[in-house]
Amino acid sequence: MSLTGPYDPDNIFAKIIRGEMPAVKVYEDDRVLAFMDVFPQAEGHLLVISKASQARNLLEAEPEAVEDLALASQRLARAATKALQCDGITVTQFNGTAAGQTVFHLHFHVIPRWADRPLAGHASGKMEDSAVLQGLADRIAAAL
Ligand code: 5GP
Repeated sequence: MSLTGPYDPDNIFAKIIRGEMPAVKVYEDDRVLAFMDVFPQAEGHLLVISKASQARNLLEAEPEAVEDLALASQRLARAATKALQCDGITVTQFNGTAAGQTVFHLHFHVIPRWADRPLAGHASGKMEDSAVLQGLADRIAAAL
């Protein structure tokens, strides 16, 4: 899919918001949802998605949605750092297929980093066990 085009209401994240697909949730309010990435690039990899916007990417997003996600990402990054004692933390997002975007619903990645652990590939690799993800989600949620 290109950088422009219609929003698909049946994308994976829209289904997670509607409860039609499972997700290991860490935080939720009426405007944002944070849950564990099922193909984590590092231990504790979180996705922070907008519940209020139908923007597919940052370029289309309303200012309020950007504010929601930036503040929630900061809060989740602080909690993940505290809970997992990581050495650093990446907060990023991708816009358009050419940039690596694979799910076309506005979201940020929050990825804990350790000096001695290489980053796994983006949206590829091994699907993590849900019990492992739940354990990490519980630890991060407790640090919010
Ligand atoms: P993007 O490539 O759009 O920036 O990020 C999409 C992310 O969603 C990827 O990191 C990918 O691993 C993750 N992902 C894809 N499908 C699912 C899913 O069904 N559940 C969860 N929790 N994450 C998913």
